[in-house]
Amino acid sequence: MPTISADDSCNQNIQLSAELIASLFTEIGQPRVEILSVPGGKPAVVARYPAPGGQPTILLYAHHDVQPVGDPDDWTNPAFEPIERDGRLFGRGTADDKAGVVAHLAALRAHDGQPPIGVTVFIEGEEEIGSPHLRQFLIRYQDKLSADIILLADSQNYDLHIPSLTTSLRGTTSCIVEVRTLDQDVHSGTYGGPTPDALTALCRLLATLHDEDGNTAIKGLLTANAGALDYSEERFRSESGVVPGVHLLGSGPIADRLWRKPAVSVLGIDACPVDETSNVLKAHARAKVGLRVAPGDDAIRARQALARHLVANAPWGVEVTVTEGSASQPHAIEPTGAAFDAARIALRGAYGEDAVEIGAGGRDLGNQRRRGPQLASSRAKRKRRTHGPRKCLPI
Ligand SMILES: [Zn+2]
Repeated sequence: MPTISADDSCNQNIQLSAELIASLFTEIGQPRVEILSVPGGKPAVVARYPAPGGQPTILLYAHHDVQPVGDPDDWTNPAFEPIERDGRLFGRGTADDKAGVVAHLAALRAHDGQPPIGVTVFIEGEEEIGSPHLRQFLIRYQDKLSADIILLADSQNYDLHIPSLTTSLRGTTSCIVEVRTLDQDVHSGTYGGPTPDALTALCRLLATLHDEDGNTAIKGLLTANAGALDYSEERFRSESGVVPGVHLLGSGPIADRLWRKPAVSVLGIDACPVDETSNVLKAHARAKVGLRVAPGDDAIRARQALARHLVANAPWGVEVTVTEGSASQPHAIEPTGAAFDAARIALRGAYGEDAVEIGAGGRDLGNQRRRGPQLASSRAKRKRRTHGPRKCLPI
């Protein structure tokens, strides 16, 4: 089902998807199944099995909306026609996050719809656009959603047959930096030489964000304690698609660089498109700089550190204006206690392997579209760019 939450022409599909999911949970015996929303929000499914006397309640989360398809020509088969390869099913949204819906269904089926504890299933419909109504939704329906334990099935395993508990998220924030060097654009033949153009000045400024090894060079950012997982460079290269010969950035173990250290990137630049250039020195240019914030740091403080860096490192005395973007906090949990004990026993029983602890990239606040998890591993994941028409397909 093409349930693309970023495309309002898919709203009907998201409604149909919610109805299908509600019917699936009703079929397996969840006694209280509802499709709920708040004004302006996409429909979510909440299915509740009340806790037998004295038992705790677990909330199982997944989402039924998906990312846009991007350029259909980049797909080897139509995005919304599932295809099986080597015993695994591929298609847009199959892993992220309709597999989460199926996992919760399967868990309830395994108990013939009568689990020994209370179970509330919450299937959201707008995760891929940053859950703009989630806060409102939680406030409005808190009586239906309150639980002793929350389990989110919206991450990945460390490897195919290794079960994983995601215990930390990096935070995220951004700044837009604008550089002005001239009152107006001028001709390069007449003024080139002594005149700094804004784009070159901006490039020099952006180049100060990393040190020679590719580590983040912004002063004052924290790094979380190192983890134990060995994430090989070979595997990372294969999964990320970094072009052979291109150096990886930063130092230290790959897992730490991915999950426990800050990471700064240039997300976009506004300047003259190459095809429209003439011999003109640009007066003005701007860029959006994204910053992933390590667990344990504060996203607002980190954003301020980035803004200070951009002002302090302006080359040639050029005028720099920084607009700070939204920020979402990093998060780390201490994975101990009865719920984690139970999860480890269950995962070990199902996989025959001990669960490992991993981190993830974290999510954006507001309406910014998330660009996918840090460990995007499939070809489809890498092709999340949304160039080309984003047309919603009928079901
Ligand atoms: Zn997801």
